[in-house]
Amino acid sequence: MNTGFLKCLIINNSAMKKTKYIYLTFFLIIISSLLISAKLTGKPTNDYLNVTQSFSDKTPIVYHDYYNIRFWGLEEFHPFDTKKYQRIFHELLQKSNLSEERVIVAAKPDKHLLSLAHDKKYLKSLNSSWTLARITELGFLRFFPSKLSRDIVLEPMLYQTGGSLLAAMAAMEQGWAINLGGGYHHASYKNGEGFCALADIGLIVRYLRQAGKVNNVMIIDLDAHQGNGHELDFIGDKNTYILDAYNKEIYPHDIVAKSSIDIKIELLAFSSDKIFLERLEKALPTAFHEFQPDLIIYIAGTDILDGDPLGALAISPEGIIKRDEMVFRLAIEKQIPIVMLLGGGYQQSNAHIIAQSILNLRDKFDLF
Ligand SMILES: [Zn+2]
Repeated sequence: MNTGFLKCLIINNSAMKKTKYIYLTFFLIIISSLLISAKLTGKPTNDYLNVTQSFSDKTPIVYHDYYNIRFWGLEEFHPFDTKKYQRIFHELLQKSNLSEERVIVAAKPDKHLLSLAHDKKYLKSLNSSWTLARITELGFLRFFPSKLSRDIVLEPMLYQTGGSLLAAMAAMEQGWAINLGGGYHHASYKNGEGFCALADIGLIVRYLRQAGKVNNVMIIDLDAHQGNGHELDFIGDKNTYILDAYNKEIYPHDIVAKSSIDIKIELLAFSSDKIFLERLEKALPTAFHEFQPDLIIYIAGTDILDGDPLGALAISPEGIIKRDEMVFRLAIEKQIPIVMLLGGGYQQSNAHIIAQSILNLRDKFDLF
């Protein structure tokens, strides 16, 4: 009998057990620390949106500090720059006469509002850490208690979704508005995916229609990814017009959702400013010739920026600034309310480019 083999097995077994205990202890320490930290951060739970508020004394820029995902540095493991919202806001405060008191403070949509955007079954599924881990691609979340996962990722998305609705309402009053977040264009009535748990675009359209404030809505989606969420939500809806420009070589390749797009600008990977801006310049007037919207929802994703590992396009910072200006120019010339949502954009440099672009819009159209 080969006793050497047995000895080796016994030693390996006890070494494995030891390692297991070390991992288990380490895991328990992390979980308890996270639980204590969650208690200490104490996110508010009853900060709900008031649909009757007026925006007359406000600059229609919407933000809340809770837009930013913070959790003991673990967020750094995700490719998303989770503090970009805060960085944009601070740069706007520093470089313009925007004052904190005049900004519209976002709040969460309540259950009634959320039920306009999602079915009950899907909303219930958001209580599961597994669902949130799948949607956000943050694998470690599935091991967390559901309350903790909701606090880490769902709360910021709730605030940003409420922010999108408030911005749309402000745009109806003031002609334009920018939510410094939102644009969850992969989320639909029955599903969330691609870091989009809540369908803020669907919520805007359904709420404003129900309130009798809009009928025709144009969605201009210039994020690097196809906006399959709102496209699925409005398939066959003649009162919703969708212009979508995206890299056709990346996620989500949603063929069913594509049938909902009125003007497609399908780009090859690593397309640069010239082709992107030329095609957009042709498409925008065609869209307004074919459809007269009461509101424009503009998803200004900056994952089209050169170097973005997920967007895989090669648009320069100047190209992004020109793009936003092109869309705003048409909306303002035609006097159609426009609400801008930020969409994707995953590099450290995005926040500065977005702030620069908003400041350019302010200068060109005397916004604030
Ligand atoms: Zn994207």
